[in-house]
Amino acid sequence: MSRLLSLAILVLVAGSAAAKGWPTPAAGESASGDPEILFTFDDGPNPTTTPKVLDELKKHGIHAVFFMVGEMAGSENKKVPAIVKRILDEGHVLASHTMKHHDLCRLKSEEAAAADIDDGIAAIEAVAKVKLAWFRAPYGVRCDRLEKLLAARGLQHFHWDLDPQEWKHNDAQKTTSYVTGSLARSSRRNVLLVHDIKKATVTSLPQILEWIDTENKSRREAGKRPIRILQAPAYAAEQLPEGLAAWSIDAKTRVVGFRTALASVLP
Ligand SMILES: [Zn+2]
Repeated sequence: MSRLLSLAILVLVAGSAAAKGWPTPAAGESASGDPEILFTFDDGPNPTTTPKVLDELKKHGIHAVFFMVGEMAGSENKKVPAIVKRILDEGHVLASHTMKHHDLCRLKSEEAAAADIDDGIAAIEAVAKVKLAWFRAPYGVRCDRLEKLLAARGLQHFHWDLDPQEWKHNDAQKTTSYVTGSLARSSRRNVLLVHDIKKATVTSLPQILEWIDTENKSRREAGKRPIRILQAPAYAAEQLPEGLAAWSIDAKTRVVGFRTALASVLP
């Protein structure tokens, strides 16, 4: 194959991938110039695993985004409404991840895709009693149909940068190694995608957070840039129009000492 032809193929492949994916970095550039991480949890809530994730986040003063599936939030399990309330009370941000976790670009009709988006939001809002502004498409798919549906609803797609794929392998050690390895090399803002319904997430989260604490201690001693936690409500208040960010402000005002928690994780 000629060099020119292989170069043309490379450009074509790169071009088509770029056209289909959502822009990265998913949450823009690091404002501080330090490496940053924002935690996002998809596919919950789950009555067994989500509280364990919340315990760990609380211990480290971290506020995350929970992209819930409507069927899970509206589940008949009696523990679920209290978990949704706890997520808000502890200063996390709620967002939507559809009703049934369909691939919205492959569903047969636009109507079915619209229904999966709308039903998901309705189910989560009915339990949470707050308005949702951020949306994440199952599998992170992007297509003209989906962009049109989101624009018509004033929803913003929130993608990710780091995907340890624990939804597939459910291996805690692999998850921890991937995340800590990526952060060790990073000099930018990273949105982490993990799943609060997975045992691997429950096991690896304390390992990742302890690694960040230890790493930051040695970075401070060496005069190097620390890894900062980007707090989800603060980011939402910055990014979303006032009306759409009402729920995040609400979530913030409910949390006594939110600013203290923020200060405790910022070096
Ligand atoms: Zn998902």
